[in-house]
Amino acid sequence: MSELRRVVVVGGGTMGNGIAHVFVQYGHAVTLVDVSEARLGEAMRTIAANLERQVKKGVLAPAAKDEALERLRTSTSLDVAADGDLIVEAVPERLELKAEIFRRVDELAPETAILASNTSSISITTLGAFTRRPDRVIGMHFMNPVPVMKLVEVIRGLATSDDVAMEVMTIARRLEKTPVEVNDFPGFVSNRVLMPMINEAIYCVMEGVATPEAVDTVMKLGMNHPLGPLALADLIGLDTCLSILEVLHRDLGDDRYRPCPLLRKYVAAGWLGRKTGRGFYPYPAAS
Ligand code: NAD
Repeated sequence: MSELRRVVVVGGGTMGNGIAHVFVQYGHAVTLVDVSEARLGEAMRTIAANLERQVKKGVLAPAAKDEALERLRTSTSLDVAADGDLIVEAVPERLELKAEIFRRVDELAPETAILASNTSSISITTLGAFTRRPDRVIGMHFMNPVPVMKLVEVIRGLATSDDVAMEVMTIARRLEKTPVEVNDFPGFVSNRVLMPMINEAIYCVMEGVATPEAVDTVMKLGMNHPLGPLALADLIGLDTCLSILEVLHRDLGDDRYRPCPLLRKYVAAGWLGRKTGRGFYPYPAAS
C-alpha cells in the first residue's frame, strides 16, 4: 500500500484522539469511531484545542490546522471500517473487547487493509488469531500524549508479515515518529520495563516509605526523569496500569509483577488519575 486513503481509529479516548490528531495533521483522512457520541464530541474539542496550541507555538500554520480538521470525520458505527486502509484500534485494555473489534473489523475492512492495535500489553499474536489475516495484524503502540511523544513501538505478532512490518514503520516515520520494532511478548519493551517501576513506587507509598511527592521528587531529581512514576501513572490511567500489570503477572507467571494492593484499591474507588480528577494527586479541573 503506497497511499493511505483513509485511516479508521477505533476508540476516541485519551489515545484515540491523539492518534487521530497526528494522522490528520500529516495529511491523512481519518474517521474516528467511538460507541459514545459524547466521547466523540470531547475528542473533537481536544483535537481542535491541541492543534490550536501547535499553531500558537509556531509549529503549525493556521491554515494547516483548518485543513487537518476538515480531514476528520466521526462515527458511532464500526461499519466505516469498510473504507479504511489502516485501522488503528484504541479501545480499553480488555481482551474480550479487543477480540470482538478485531473479529468485526476483519469482516468489514478491505482484505488489503492493515489492522493495528494500540494495546499496551495484550498479545498481538492473540489478536491476529481472531482474524483471517494474522499476517496483516500488528501492534502500533503510540505514547501519551501522542502529538508530542516521538516513539511508536511496532510489535510484530508471530504471523505478521515482513511487508506489513515495513509498511507500518514507514507510516510511523511519515508522522515524524521514531518507530522501534519489537517482538510480541507480554508488555513488549515499554511496559515490561516501566510498569514494575510504577508498581514499586506504589508499594513505597503503601508501605509508608515516602509520600507520592517524595517518591516522584527522588525519581525526577535523582534519575533525571521528566515526570515521577506516580504522576506518570496518573497520566496513563490507574485502571490501564492495573490491566497491564495483570497481563504481565499472568502471562509471565512471575510474582515480581504482582499488582500492588494499593493500586487495586485506588481503581476500586474510581480514583483513576487525571481522567477522573483524582489519583495519587488531585486534578480539580477534571472532576
Ligand atoms: P480510554 O478509556 O481513554 O478510551 C477508550 C475509548 O474507547 C473510550 O472513548 C470508549 O468510549 C471507547 N470504546 C469502548 N468500547 C468501544 C467500542 N466497542 N467501539 C468503539 N469505541 C469504544 O482509553 P485509552 O487510555 O485511550 O487506552 C486505549 C488503548 O491504548 C488501551 O489499549 C491502552 O492500553 C492503550 N494505551 C494507553 C496509553 C495511555 O497512556 N493511556 C498509552 C499507550 C497505550
